Amino acid sequence: MFLFRFFVILKLKAASFKKGHRVTDTTDWEKIKEKYNFRCATCGSQEGKPQLHWTAAKTVLQKAHMDPNKPLIAGNIIPQCQKCNRGDRNRWVYDEKGRVIKLANPQVIKTCDKEVRKKVYRILYNEFQGKNPNSVK
Ligand SMILES: [Zn+2]
Repeated sequence: MFLFRFFVILKLKAASFKKGHRVTDTTDWEKIKEKYNFRCATCGSQEGKPQLHWTAAKTVLQKAHMDPNKPLIAGNIIPQCQKCNRGDRNRWVYDEKGRVIKLANPQVIKTCDKEVRKKVYRILYNEFQGKNPNSVK
């Protein structure tokens, strides 16, 4: 598992350095923020103004992954404020409007209530017809 993760990280890093894909150009980042009217895609807080839910904090927009399993390149970036772009957001995949659309990390299922886990288990059991998880491709 460790080697697999290491390989994925290497692959992602290699992909992120492909010429013309990574948004390192300040102009590109400014264009992305402008597209969002300099607001957090998720909560709508405006850059330089008080954060909408934590008004003591001034909003700082950050380049955030739409899908944390993919490199931070054009097409996978939304602006998020420092509050929405927290570490735990790596659990989720966002759409371009900053809404959660699916899980990015299956480990999040362990934090769900048992009733939710049972429902997920039933869904997966039916989908994979009760096969041994190690034999599912
Ligand atoms: Zn936000």
